[in-house]
Amino acid sequence: MSDFKFADLNLCKELLKGVADLGFEEPSPIQAVAIPLVLAGRDMVGQAQTGTGKTAAFGLPVLERLNPRGKKVQALVLCPTRELAVQVAEEVSLLAAHLRGISVLPVYGGQSLDRQLRALERGVQFVVGTPGRVLDHLERGSLKLGALQTLVLDEADEMLDMGFRDDIESVLKAAPENCQKICFSATMPKDILALIQGHMRDPEFVRITRKELTVANVEQFYYEVQPYRKAEALCLVLDTCDFNKGIVFCSTKLGVDELATHLLACGYQADSLHGNLSQAQRDRVMGRFRSGGLELLIATDVAARGLDVDDVDLVLNYDVPFDVESYVHRIGRTGRAGKSGKAATFVTARELYKIRDISRYTKADIQRARLPSKREVSDLKTSRLLGEVLATAEAMKEERKDAQKIDRYEYLLESVSGGEHSERDIAGALLKMLVEREQIWPSPAELEAEKQAPPAEPGYAGRSAGKGASRGAGGKNTRKNGGMERLFFNIGSKARVTPGDFVGAITGETGLSGRIIGDIEIHDRFSFVEVPRDKAEEIMQAMNKTQIRGLRVAADIARPL
Ligand code: AMP
Repeated sequence: MSDFKFADLNLCKELLKGVADLGFEEPSPIQAVAIPLVLAGRDMVGQAQTGTGKTAAFGLPVLERLNPRGKKVQALVLCPTRELAVQVAEEVSLLAAHLRGISVLPVYGGQSLDRQLRALERGVQFVVGTPGRVLDHLERGSLKLGALQTLVLDEADEMLDMGFRDDIESVLKAAPENCQKICFSATMPKDILALIQGHMRDPEFVRITRKELTVANVEQFYYEVQPYRKAEALCLVLDTCDFNKGIVFCSTKLGVDELATHLLACGYQADSLHGNLSQAQRDRVMGRFRSGGLELLIATDVAARGLDVDDVDLVLNYDVPFDVESYVHRIGRTGRAGKSGKAATFVTARELYKIRDISRYTKADIQRARLPSKREVSDLKTSRLLGEVLATAEAMKEERKDAQKIDRYEYLLESVSGGEHSERDIAGALLKMLVEREQIWPSPAELEAEKQAPPAEPGYAGRSAGKGASRGAGGKNTRKNGGMERLFFNIGSKARVTPGDFVGAITGETGLSGRIIGDIEIHDRFSFVEVPRDKAEEIMQAMNKTQIRGLRVAADIARPL
């Protein structure tokens, strides 16, 4: 964690607004160090992996230095893959959303050259591209670097591994000698240093150093999850963990608000805590959390700083923290005052290295844990419910013994039983109603059906799954249209996707005709697309490697619930 705020970094108010829109609360460690250096015009070599916030670390200061009136290319970022190029262009465009007259263009192989040529002709200031395609444009003369101010090599080690050394050399040579050069790389092998030597002027080497840190006496786990199944995984974990007070950490204010809304809709007593709250709002939330009126606090690192609650027994890192210090600080919110605590982190396959890093630097044993299955959750909820029923029966028996009288519930039972319905029938009906009302999911009947023909893992939306509003794959997804398969996509109208985006991505990535695509249903956060069953696997594989509107896509067969 840094002591800087974005407002301390000499960025214009339009960029600060872009940062706020993205929900970033404070600069990540690499941003705190790199932004002032790049703003000062220094050449820089940064050792940072993906997930550290490196895109904004160079994106923000480079944007700050652009001249919106100049229509020539002033900034060029080289990335190893088209996915990264699109992702970087997307993030830079979002950061630049309030700057007037700035255009950002991704250029990569596989995309229509004409479109890129037209855009370059119209004039853009910020180009993000793969080395091969950038060189292609340089050779055609469609991309000119005469006015280039900053050249960024992003994921330089990846680019070298992919054989782009000569292409990068050519771009470096084509750039003006006095242009600022920045290089980010996860590792710093000798060939990177050899590549940049001779092209950089007195570069500043930046690496976030880590202090030796030890972690409080807290049981630590991690769950490996698919990015689009995180919310579902969180609900499964919450439903099987015994806890009184828990804190769930997200990296952005936006993430905090979205998750708190989701958890509330799923029946948890949750509220958000982040830097946008007034002191009065903050006090109110904290008051409820302390008194037990809230079971879950969803917070950013900044908001949770200095948070002093003794009996937090669960910390969940919904997003992996940027650095080891934040991790230690987060999990230090539990296991206090001699009490025991648990901490779990949700990681995607791409983030596993961060857990290994944290484990190495803190010397903590962070165990990989298996996500509970829906059957385990259901069994646990059923046994909890039966436990409550038996405890109530016991208490009522005691009361009757003392009062020597029949209580009103017995009168009620007598009034409805006998004749057609035995007490056993009534008890069974009451249990059924309770199970359904408590939304123990899936219902015993569903589990029985599953035993006969086990379905693949469906979505899970915690305590209110029965309401269906926030299931990963909605209730209608069992529909099959002769020979067609329904695919579930993790993006929807919130990401501004249109049916055309799906058709374009599927036809573009697979070469199949758009005519084979059936119904397309776009919801807020997910969509369904019908495709021929015999092409479903091919389409899914292609879609899982691509992006739509700059977002990584996850496609899966829509499962019946
Ligand atoms: P990167 O390492 O650039 O790929 O960034 C990883 C993720 O962190 C991206 O989703 C960014 O939008 C997000 N991010 C970058 N900077 C911050 C920040 N200061 N606070 C919170 N999230 C951030």
